[in-house]
Amino acid sequence: MSELTTLQHFIGGTWVEPASGEYFESTNPATLQTNYRAARGNPADVDRAVTAARLAFEDPRWRNLSQTRRGHLLRRLGELIAENAEELARMETRDNGKLLREMRGQLATLPEYFHYYAGLADKIHGDFIPTSDRQVLNYTAREPLGVVGAITPWNSPLTLTSSKLAPALCAGNTVVIKPSEYTSATVLRLAELALEAGFPPGAVNVVTGFGAEAGQALVDHRDLAKISFTGSTATGSRIAAATASRFIGSTLELGGKSPNIVFDDANVPNAAMGVVAGIFAAAGQTCIAGSRVFAHRSVHDELVERVTERAKAIRIGDPMDERTELGPLAFAEQRDKVAGYVDLGREEGARVLTGGNPTDGGLGGWFYEPTVLVDVHNDMRVVREEIFGPVLAVMPFDTEEDAVRLANDTEYGLAAGVWTQNLARAHRMAARLDAGTVWVNTYRAMSPMSPRQGFKASGVGVEHGTESIKEYTRLKSVWINTSEEPVADPFTMRS
Ligand code: NAD
Repeated sequence: MSELTTLQHFIGGTWVEPASGEYFESTNPATLQTNYRAARGNPADVDRAVTAARLAFEDPRWRNLSQTRRGHLLRRLGELIAENAEELARMETRDNGKLLREMRGQLATLPEYFHYYAGLADKIHGDFIPTSDRQVLNYTAREPLGVVGAITPWNSPLTLTSSKLAPALCAGNTVVIKPSEYTSATVLRLAELALEAGFPPGAVNVVTGFGAEAGQALVDHRDLAKISFTGSTATGSRIAAATASRFIGSTLELGGKSPNIVFDDANVPNAAMGVVAGIFAAAGQTCIAGSRVFAHRSVHDELVERVTERAKAIRIGDPMDERTELGPLAFAEQRDKVAGYVDLGREEGARVLTGGNPTDGGLGGWFYEPTVLVDVHNDMRVVREEIFGPVLAVMPFDTEEDAVRLANDTEYGLAAGVWTQNLARAHRMAARLDAGTVWVNTYRAMSPMSPRQGFKASGVGVEHGTESIKEYTRLKSVWINTSEEPVADPFTMRS
């Protein structure tokens, strides 16, 4: 039997053993084989990583690096990701069970995150501000914040970490990442590639471990300038409170319960495929999962039939197999949570049209069948709460007004889909839906160029696009008196 791989923290450009000497195991959710042992981070490890990041931030080699050169490093990191794409894709599939075909797709676009911010690096600047006294100059400078803490979930570790890492480095910060305890491997490899790309030791650090231990210690660290978090609304709410009390910023990308709305004028076959993509891709383990479908009463039955037929035909199995369409849930508790919600839905009166059972996918893993629920309404917990699995709830509506009211009747506001061929209606819906992203006749489209923000309990702050640079910089206003004259009246405010 081959010896289990052991992963250490990545701090200050080298592999560092955990202060406690303790490790935890990571399991492949499709096969239940143990993947590797990872360092169990504690406050001492976090302190070491934040100190390394702070020293790197203060080091003139990073601080005085030209913005153009920062851009070069980001571009090189994007190239290295492309060169190592297959290795990274396979690593992540083993970690969280995401389909290799989806991971290959993600890796094909992941370099763009770094290339986009490479292009932005030398375009970060302040402004020259007019004053009422021509002898007084006023300008602003956009400065990096310092050490940024990035805490990420297990469902798309590489992509979600890159959404933070690329703009944070672009703006001149240094970073300490705490990946999910379920998916440490690819984030560690990403940090290693950043060093290889030429980022100085300490610019990118990774402390692996559990949320309540390593994650909490990172949030609480006094030298941290900001937390950028992607994960559940419950954890995000705790982080928001902790950071607010210390007056440091946080960007929070949280949960969702996104509606997909199908109108009577929609292309129903296309809409059905969009609904399937929205909820069954990645086995429903995406924050943007279109888990609530509202279908106009006149197309409801046709849509349900099409979606159910496709759901029944979904090939469940080995995520490494290119033909597989549905892989496992990422860990046992996640599978049990999904099963628990479907049982709850049944108790609440929902009818299961297809699915509704755990399965081992033929591999002994933590799979759950693609599930379609009808006879549901907006007051049921299966419709209100984020399940984060392949479970769809379909409800009819009668008027556009109803659709808006039902879709917005949720604590979340991450994303929404609209299926209609009526252009005016598409714009009306985009304006009225309380969601940070609205897709019309498509679903799950995303790009590092397009800013995204969760509304309501789905988040605070913006990721992607030029907007996200503001999340990783602070604005300083500088006033310069160019006159040699003494101040005429010291008791009057000047501008
Ligand atoms: P989670 O909140 O349990 O964990 C996320 C990260 O936070 C992990 O690294 C975890 O170790 C850490 N953590 C947990 N408790 C912590 C604490 N007290 N202090 C500091 N860190 C702590 O979320 P999850 O189960 O890993 O991820 C799934 C959730 O993420 C879903 O709700 C999903 O919707 C959300 N998500 C949101 C987006 C988005 O962009 N809005 C994207 C993907 C996932």
